[in-house]
Amino acid sequence: MPNAFEPFVLRLPEGEALPLVCDSPHSGTHYPADFHAAAPATRLREGEDTHVEALWEAVPAVGGTLVAANFPRVYIDPNRMLDDLDPDLLDGQWPEPLAPGEKTRLGFGLIWRNIDAATPIYDRKLSIAEVRNRIDTYYRPYHAALAKAVEDSHWRFGAVWHLNLHSMPNNAYERLKKVSPHPLADFVLGDRDGTTCDPEFVHLIESGLRDMGYSVARNDPYKGVQLIAQIGRPAEARHSLQIEIRRPLYMDERTRERNSGFATVQRDMGRLLQKVRDYLRNQVAA
Ligand SMILES: [Zn+2]
Repeated sequence: MPNAFEPFVLRLPEGEALPLVCDSPHSGTHYPADFHAAAPATRLREGEDTHVEALWEAVPAVGGTLVAANFPRVYIDPNRMLDDLDPDLLDGQWPEPLAPGEKTRLGFGLIWRNIDAATPIYDRKLSIAEVRNRIDTYYRPYHAALAKAVEDSHWRFGAVWHLNLHSMPNNAYERLKKVSPHPLADFVLGDRDGTTCDPEFVHLIESGLRDMGYSVARNDPYKGVQLIAQIGRPAEARHSLQIEIRRPLYMDERTRERNSGFATVQRDMGRLLQKVRDYLRNQVAA
C-alpha cells in the first residue's frame, strides 16, 4: 500500500555542519487510514509529544540534523525494540521471539494497547500483516534515517552528539504508577543513569536550562528508552541524551494547542542550542 504521507521529516544543517543529530520520535500527528482504533481521536492524541519538533526548529540553523516522525507513536513507537511487542494484541503467532518489557506490560510497548488503564485503543486483535506494515512502512524508515545521520556524523567528525527530544504529560508520575516526593520537573534529562552520554555534555544542558529558570531532573521519572540505549556509546564518542519537556510549559494538554508559553520555550531552546553549538565547535576544533 503506498504511503499517504512520508514517515518522517528530515531537516539538514544550514551552513556549517556540526556533529549534532536530534530526533523527535513522538511528535507525529498524521494518523494512518489503516489504524482502525476504537478509542476516540482526542484520547489517541494524548500519546503525542505534540509540537516538540517545532520547539526545536532551530536545530538546522546551528548546524544540526533534525529527524521528526510524522506518524503518531500510539500507531507504532520508534522508541521501542521490535521485539517489545505485546502478543495479546495479535490475532496470530508472531514469527519471531518476543520480549515485552515493563512499559509494554503497562500497555505502552512497540504498539500501544491502551491510552491509560481504563482506555483500550482497540476493540479487535491486530493481524500479523498490519503490524508488519507498520514496522516496514514507518518504524524502519525512521530508524534508517536517524541511523544514517548518526553514522554520517560519526564518520565525518569521529564523534556524534544525539538529542532525543520528547515532552511529558503533567501527570507523568501517576501514569507511570510512581510515587514522588516532589513535583514533576520542567525538564527531565535521561541518560539511562549516566551510561549513554558524556557527563560534561549533560551538565552543559542542565546548567543551560537552570540558568533560564527551569527546574531540571535527571532520569526521574524518565531514563530514556530504546533510541538512546542504541545510539549512546560514550566510549566510542557517541553521546545520546533524552530531553523531556513538561507539556503545560508550552501547550494545553486538553486541546493540544500551543499555549502562551510556547514562544518562550521555543526561544529558550534556540538559546540552548547556541550553547550546544559553541560547545561542539570547540570539541570539533580540539
Ligand atoms: Zn516521547
